[in-house]
Amino acid sequence: MAHLIDGKMLSAQIRDEVKAAVALRSASGKRAPYLAVVLIGEDPASASYVKGKAKASTEVGIDSDTMTYDASISEAEVLDIIERLNQDESVDGILVQLPLPAHIDEQKVIHAISPAKDVDCFHPESVGNLVIGLDGFQPATPAGIVEMLKRTGIETSGKHCVIIGRSNIVGKPLANLMLKKGIDATVTVCHSRTSNLAEIARQADILVAAIGRPNFVTKDMVKPGAVVIDVGINRVDDESRERGYRLVGDVDFEAASTLASHITPVPGGVGPMTIAVLLQNTLKAAK
Ligand code: NAD
Repeated sequence: MAHLIDGKMLSAQIRDEVKAAVALRSASGKRAPYLAVVLIGEDPASASYVKGKAKASTEVGIDSDTMTYDASISEAEVLDIIERLNQDESVDGILVQLPLPAHIDEQKVIHAISPAKDVDCFHPESVGNLVIGLDGFQPATPAGIVEMLKRTGIETSGKHCVIIGRSNIVGKPLANLMLKKGIDATVTVCHSRTSNLAEIARQADILVAAIGRPNFVTKDMVKPGAVVIDVGINRVDDESRERGYRLVGDVDFEAASTLASHITPVPGGVGPMTIAVLLQNTLKAAK
């Protein structure tokens, strides 16, 4: 049976490190880092992510404010809010929770955030720094995955990392991180138009699923001994739960665990790591 990679435990380590660094700053008379979170609309998943981020910030001594707006807010108003946050010296990090309502251009909003405060690492300047290997903010979910691998003692150098999914949030930035000097994986990115996907997945030493479909990764896609990282967060109906659903990943966990050397659970895997990296980025922004 595969070894379970405990994202809760590993993220707690990172949060403790951030907490200690924040305490050190305040001992030297510096103010607490400040994260401004902008939430637009009523999407329950977004509201729950934002709540988790705010709570985690408070726990490590980062001040955070969640600014909530009705879904009917205009694009111009959102850009105005961001400009005010850009100018406000007491704000270190700005996070606009995605997705945005359809009438607001996501890319315009991302472009408007000052790269110095871009703790989500979505701005083209941040992405460019990542691609050419310059120091900058870390893309939260991909960097959380790399931290998991490092802290679990998993070798990445020369290993074949197959990523399923090519989104700007997970697949593409993760591919760039895994290629970075010092991490040194050989990377293949698969997507909805990839033919022979199972055959490619089976070649992975490290298999990352970031698709958004429950049980997409089946046993025949996993090489014996592979490390399986499940990024997916999917709601499936479950009448036995009070809320009527449960969260599952993109991997058929039961089947893959019988072959993999290491595997991440959902929930309790990549999710908590994402928040921990956001806190690291906010601390970095304050520095
Ligand atoms: P996305 O919808 O932007 O991208 C999904 C990707 O999957 C696309 O690149 C697409 O090409 C690929 N895909 C879709 N169908 C496919 C198929 N049949 N075969 C091969 N590839 C296919 O999603 P995303 O934002 O990257 O998120 C993916 C999943 O990860 C979602 O479940 C999301 O909720 C989750 N997620 C989790 C975290 C976290 O912190 N754990 C963070 C971000 C996203």
